[in-house]
Amino acid sequence: MDDLILSPGLYIVATPIGNLGDLTPRAAQILTRADVVAVEDSRVTAGLFRHLGTKGRMLPYHDHNADAVRPGLIARMATEAVALVSDAGTPLISDPGFKLVRDARAAGHVVTTIPGPCAAIAALTLAGLPTDRFFFLGFLPAKQQARAEAIAEVAAIRATLVLYESGPRLSACLAALAEGLGNRETAVAREITKRFEECVTGTLGELAARYADAPPRGEIVVVVAPPGEAPPASIEDGDAALAEALTRLPASKAAGEVAKKLGLDRKALYARAMTLKT
Ligand code: SAM
Repeated sequence: MDDLILSPGLYIVATPIGNLGDLTPRAAQILTRADVVAVEDSRVTAGLFRHLGTKGRMLPYHDHNADAVRPGLIARMATEAVALVSDAGTPLISDPGFKLVRDARAAGHVVTTIPGPCAAIAALTLAGLPTDRFFFLGFLPAKQQARAEAIAEVAAIRATLVLYESGPRLSACLAALAEGLGNRETAVAREITKRFEECVTGTLGELAARYADAPPRGEIVVVVAPPGEAPPASIEDGDAALAEALTRLPASKAAGEVAKKLGLDRKALYARAMTLKT
């Protein structure tokens, strides 16, 4: 990356989520040398350019003008270096950019990424919860019913869940998660990389109560532990499954089927089947 002139194409540039010291040297190089930088909000990115000591050639690209602006940006990528940034963090992650990348690829342009800060990943490193499998939910719907449905959809996923939320909605969101997922261990990571960074841990219920009367300020990521192991099947579960299986199968086969399904002892189930039949 020592060339003074960048090759034409699209450059996806991650920017700090709070601490300007997190801007990578490569990101700074691309932003100062790009022919045009597509930005979510030019007032926000102007602060980054001030930090870099340059003005930057910014072009607004956000949810409201993206469809109108995109064809022009795609055309420019044939001969110019076009960079994309969002207000903070990694573009495309709960931020605009996916269609720009899709269309740039379709037009045969080179797409390069300059990775860097991302609040979801930073929160995972703070939470102390399993990171081998995680599922990113972005922002949950604001309305109660839609939020409950979105939570129900992911309740069975055996992975840590990561989502973005705002301070005023945090407590209601945590309570809805407790209702839909059970009272799992959770971390609320706030103001990551900023002066008042904190990561508060507890169960969903505890955290919902903590923030109910005191909605936190600043930016927030919620990280929720995966579901625990399913509790062992009870005698009542075994009896119910056995009674149903006996309507279809002889005792030995019914015992075998239920043993496999519920992880119970086949011989004990057979003995139970004999008493249930009498
Ligand atoms: N693209 C960004 C990224 O890579 O993280 C996320 C953009 S999304 C529109 C903004 C949300 O990210 C905020 O509402 C908050 O939930 C989360 N976020 C951004 N910066 C954060 C920070 N410093 N601390 C905690 N959460 C942050």
